[in-house]
Amino acid sequence: MSIPPRIGFIGLGLMGRAMAENLLKAGFNVSVQNRYRAKTVPFSEKGCNVAVTPRELAKMCNVIITMVADPAAMDAVLEGPTGVFASGFDGNLLINMSTVSVEYTDKLKGRCFTERVRFIDCPVAGSKPLAENGTLVLLAGGDEKTVEAAKPILLAMGKAVVYSGPAPAGTSLKLCMNLIVAGLTSALAESAALAECLKIDPKLIFSVIKESPALNCGYFKMKENNILNKDFPPAFALKHMLKDVRFMIKEADERGQPLPVTRAIEGLMGKVARSDAEKDLSVILKVLTEERLPGKGNL
Ligand code: NAP
Repeated sequence: MSIPPRIGFIGLGLMGRAMAENLLKAGFNVSVQNRYRAKTVPFSEKGCNVAVTPRELAKMCNVIITMVADPAAMDAVLEGPTGVFASGFDGNLLINMSTVSVEYTDKLKGRCFTERVRFIDCPVAGSKPLAENGTLVLLAGGDEKTVEAAKPILLAMGKAVVYSGPAPAGTSLKLCMNLIVAGLTSALAESAALAECLKIDPKLIFSVIKESPALNCGYFKMKENNILNKDFPPAFALKHMLKDVRFMIKEADERGQPLPVTRAIEGLMGKVARSDAEKDLSVILKVLTEERLPGKGNL
């Protein structure tokens, strides 16, 4: 950017906190805002400006980055008298990194055009540990020159920017990637549940994965402790993956594309979310083992 960026970061959850910290470490001028104020304290202690509302934040900044839960959260921070658009943000840049629906991103693109706000549709691949160590992959949609100019900001939060085409292509690509993650997680959980039934120590699954050139994938490694210890502190909350799986199914349905496996995963995750929505998505193992028919698991 020709004018030095003054970045306003909205949404200091599991991902946003780490991403905003990496922007600070890279030397950017960062101000923050979060719905619940407590999460801003570590940033005020580092000397960042903390805004009470997104509107106040946008008045201080020429780049706003949003990393909030879902479309409803996006509307809460962008719209209304306290939202970003109420600040007179025209001419400036909005980068949305939250995962929302294709429909929402398309609507937001139009809203930004009307408000004369430049827009990058930039969801991320990777979860909490990758956000912390700055190795996210950024799936950027939008005007190519705008994405190119924003690369120094984006690369402070991740290791690579994949340009995906005009918005909402970033969101579309993100849903395709999360379809794989949903499938990998379900496969791993079902494999561990079956192993228990067959009196195979699930540790052996990970031993084979590590030795296998085909299966040795970082994602399985990231979920190893969750599966083996049956402990599911959130790196990526099940409720967020369920939201994304529902976005995938909606887009596929509208285009007549069957997604039979993803639909089955939606059913499973929907059931798990009734009790464990805030836990890591690998918590589906817990429900699979709880639902085993009594006595049958000891055959
Ligand atoms: P999170 O820990 O649940 O944080 C959600 C953030 O959204 C918090 O800052 C929360 O504010 C804010 N928020 C929620 N509802 C709001 C509302 N109505 N108004 C204003 N703010 C609201 O989620 P996360 O894991 O950081 O994920 C953030 C986004 O990135 C989601 O779209 C998720 O799907 C996506 N994502 C997550 C991962 C991952 O591995 N975790 C990876 C890639 C993409 P409060 O703190 O006040 O509740």
